Amino acid sequence: METYDLIIRNARLRGLEGVHDIAIKDGRIAKIGIITGKGENEVDAGGKLVTESFMNPHLHMCKVYTFKQIGEESLRQYHEKSMGGAMTAIELASKIKERYRADWIYENAKKAALEALKHGCTHIRAFVDTDTKARLEGIKALLKLRDEVKEFMTIQVVAFPQDGVLRDPGSEELVRKAVEMGADVVGGIPWIEYTEEDSKAHIDKMFEIAKEYDRDVAMLTDDAGDPGLRTTEYLALKTIKEKWIGRVTACHARAMEFYPEPYFRKLAHLLKTAEMSIVSDPHTGPLHARVRELLDQGVNVAFGQDDIADAYYPYGRNKMLEIAFLCSHLLWMTSLRDMEILYDMVTRMAGKAMNIKNHRIEVGAPANLVVLNAENVYEAIWYQAEPRYVISRGRIVAENEEITRFHVKI
Ligand SMILES: [Zn+2]
Repeated sequence: METYDLIIRNARLRGLEGVHDIAIKDGRIAKIGIITGKGENEVDAGGKLVTESFMNPHLHMCKVYTFKQIGEESLRQYHEKSMGGAMTAIELASKIKERYRADWIYENAKKAALEALKHGCTHIRAFVDTDTKARLEGIKALLKLRDEVKEFMTIQVVAFPQDGVLRDPGSEELVRKAVEMGADVVGGIPWIEYTEEDSKAHIDKMFEIAKEYDRDVAMLTDDAGDPGLRTTEYLALKTIKEKWIGRVTACHARAMEFYPEPYFRKLAHLLKTAEMSIVSDPHTGPLHARVRELLDQGVNVAFGQDDIADAYYPYGRNKMLEIAFLCSHLLWMTSLRDMEILYDMVTRMAGKAMNIKNHRIEVGAPANLVVLNAENVYEAIWYQAEPRYVISRGRIVAENEEITRFHVKI
């Protein structure tokens, strides 16, 4: 008789009729269907939905839970209707970095990582401020955490020069140092520079590091209400020129909302050619990338948590089903078909945005799964119930139970 490490019995799978068993061996999906063999461990999904685990391609992980320390002023600026105060918000928020220390950042980030696991999110792309104020304190904290959790969770550490590269002399060297220390991804925020020329130089310099150390690139582009911001375009052009196809992601790109149609179409075409993903976070600012139209144009679009209780957003708990629920409202994606897309955007497409290969339920794929407490995607997004089991690298890493006792009779 065949034996497996783990078997999930009676699982409902997206797009398939009936229930199926999933057998897992050596961290991978070994078989799907009727499984006669035995598992060292077996769980019964009881006809509930089993899908790929959630992934979060954008989180400012060195800033989590700092909201109370920093106060509300930068949040007020960032959330102004036109997002005209976005740059002021970043300047105000950077104050906290004078107090940056690896020890408390590590504790906060650990709390956020456990929250993610609880809610079924197994992969996080962590943007970590790497600049002359933050120095390498956040990087030290997140690299330590990344290594500690690596058996059951993926944290990709992004060396992120939050205050600019040209605007903050010294940050380029710090990003290089962070990558030498082991940061996985080279970051950037080109729109924050003072001139278009500087924005381009910012992208060029960060690409130099990415190429030298063979790293993926993830930048925050055009994150304010100014249609003149066009760094997403240059990032795509640079990606094509440097043949970094499929390795680059742009987060936010909120100015896109104001682009004239012909320019938007050209940009979408460039993004597709560069196989660049867009990570949108409509819940953290009043503007957002043109998600629906990008999807229509065939661009890979995912949602990120972006912030957890920091200077830019007061809520957040690394719960990607909550993000899907919020975005369903903010983007008015409320049809059953839309919900399937929203779900993809926090699972498969989020994985693609993080350059995670093969995040699918299929034989041979890594077994990163959630056994939901819902029968379908609609119910999952509607109730956002905690997953009954969270499976990472082929083993159960979290289990949730929901208990309600009514003390009334009807
Ligand atoms: Zn962000």
